Amino acid sequence: MNTVSCPECEAEITLDASTEVGEIIVCSDCGVDLEVTGLDPAEVNLAPMEQEDWGE
Ligand SMILES: [Zn+2]
Repeated sequence: MNTVSCPECEAEITLDASTEVGEIIVCSDCGVDLEVTGLDPAEVNLAPMEQEDWGE
């Protein structure tokens, strides 16, 4: 089972067996979006903030 530490709050997060690289997961502790960057070993990074330009 793959576990990673949240880069934001260091909570331990368990990745689903079906988790794939590039998937966005949410830390259940602090709620931050994390992008899965690797599975062997399991690695996550803070997901890039989506900056929606709503325009006018
Ligand atoms: Zn967290």
